[in-house]
Amino acid sequence: MKRTQYLVKIFAAFCVLFASNAQAQELRALSNVDTENSSISDRLFGGVSIKLALSQAIPFRIFTRSAPNRVILDFRELAWNSAAAESIVDSEVVSNLRFGVFQPGWTRLVLPISQPLLVQSAHMELIKSDGTAKLFIRLGKTDQKKFDAASTVKPDTEWTQEEVQFETVSRQRQTGDRPILVAIDPGHGGIDPGAVVSGFNEKDLVLAFATELREALSKTDQFDAFLTRDGDYFKSLTGRISTARKGDADILISLHADALAEGRASGITVYTVSNKASDEAAAQLASQLDRSDLLAGVDLSEQDEPVTSVLMDLARVETNARSMELAGKLVAGIAQSTQRSRSRPQLAAAFTVLKAPDIPSVLIELGFLTNKTDLRNLLNDKWRVIVQRGIIQGLMDWSVEDAAQARLLRK
Ligand SMILES: [Zn+2]
Repeated sequence: MKRTQYLVKIFAAFCVLFASNAQAQELRALSNVDTENSSISDRLFGGVSIKLALSQAIPFRIFTRSAPNRVILDFRELAWNSAAAESIVDSEVVSNLRFGVFQPGWTRLVLPISQPLLVQSAHMELIKSDGTAKLFIRLGKTDQKKFDAASTVKPDTEWTQEEVQFETVSRQRQTGDRPILVAIDPGHGGIDPGAVVSGFNEKDLVLAFATELREALSKTDQFDAFLTRDGDYFKSLTGRISTARKGDADILISLHADALAEGRASGITVYTVSNKASDEAAAQLASQLDRSDLLAGVDLSEQDEPVTSVLMDLARVETNARSMELAGKLVAGIAQSTQRSRSRPQLAAAFTVLKAPDIPSVLIELGFLTNKTDLRNLLNDKWRVIVQRGIIQGLMDWSVEDAAQARLLRK
């Protein structure tokens, strides 16, 4: 059996496991749509949002095709009909949808769209209490050229959580004349809990921290922020980069609080990407994160960036330097704020989530759940506020120098 097929089977097994929780191990092949609680509607500032309430989680995939422009959603065994599907549409952009069996075992929803839209996010949330699931999809405005390019992407053989696209155009570097947009990336999520210690899940702790950091950043004049994952759902590592890019982020900060087998790892560490790991523990951490993705059902071998141009390599060199600067300032800001410095606070390893060629990216281990003090710190409101202040101070120091450098390069 191909590895992809095998992983899909594992994912399907996960879904069944979650879905059957409340139904005394009853396995159902079909998922029904709760039409009352589902909608396809236009978003306030453009784009379309799709919400489907399902009687149980099922594998799905989404992709787009042009001529004519349309969004296609495939589901494994969805019991629904065209009239019911039509009844949930309240949109100027989507009309004349089609729904039906596409091939045995697969049902397809085709949404013809009157303007080009890209898939910004697509995730299924499992409601543990009653075994139902909700599918959330956000489609955002784009131009026809980008839509056409995205629409040639082959859908995953079985299902995908979202399409990963890498633009080959270098981004406009910040020069200090606009707020800096920070993509905050809470690690893990959904079927991937990350580290689990004494009943605490890393995915929940880092999401809480990320939400607080977003609030704190949006109170400043210099920064705006958004999350790459804003709920308890799975998101692939490359999907996180995609979300940061689609959101036009200037920088990406990934947040983790992993477990390390040694048990001696403690304190806050800031990581950047490098093919050569600083040490064995850093290398182990990076491969541990890749493994979480793999277990959740992502085939990493198919996730390599298709970007290899010379221009991109140049961008990557510049981005790596900026990421290193950013990591340095964050370490200094956090040390100042927490009044504590560590012997090796800045390390590197081959972290997939930090591999955007054009977005300076760092990963902060807020602590290691395997360390009692670190776990206690993460649960402490005051400690979190102090660290968040340190991060913001680091960002401010970095952004001033980074803008000055950008202005020099322009001349
Ligand atoms: Zn982690």
